[in-house]
Amino acid sequence: VAIKECSINDLIMGVLSFSAAMLRKQKVKVQLELDDNLPKILADTEKLKQVFVNIIVNAAEAMPFGGNLDIKTSQSDDLMIVSLTDTGEGISEEELHRIFDPFYTTKDAGTGLGLSISYQSIKLHGGMIEVDSAPNSGTTFIIKLPISP
Ligand code: ADP
Ligand code: MG
Repeated sequence: VAIKECSINDLIMGVLSFSAAMLRKQKVKVQLELDDNLPKILADTEKLKQVFVNIIVNAAEAMPFGGNLDIKTSQSDDLMIVSLTDTGEGISEEELHRIFDPFYTTKDAGTGLGLSISYQSIKLHGGMIEVDSAPNSGTTFIIKLPISP
């Protein structure tokens, strides 16, 4: 593992420019609210990038006719908080219990691995990943990462 000091905002901007063509094609409008005063964190940046790619691709796939993706960063005490909210199809109560399980997918060609790997990656960083969703009212993923002292 390669642990580096990184700016979470820069990392998110990098993932967005990497995903720009896909987001444009899917008619996803991205709105950013990034806190400029966040401290750097120690992270395995390749793993963290993969987490955000997974969540952003899932969001786009949940909005086949386009929609909004709002990404916010903030700090609360010793936690860095990233929230990603889409206006997609949402997730039912029963499904919510399973989305982090390996191989759980509702897609014809899905692997069901994206969120289970993301969950492990965030746990490796000492953080947590939470989800808030309901059918037809979109989905929010919240990632909390510890800020190193
Ligand atoms: P995959 O994308 O291959 O299906 P994931 O682990 O990335 O696997 O996601 C698991 C399941 O969680 C998806 O199949 C989908 O049912 C649900 N899901 C994940 N993100 C979203 C989202 N933003 N909106 C609606 N459903 C989602
Ligand atoms: Mg996925």
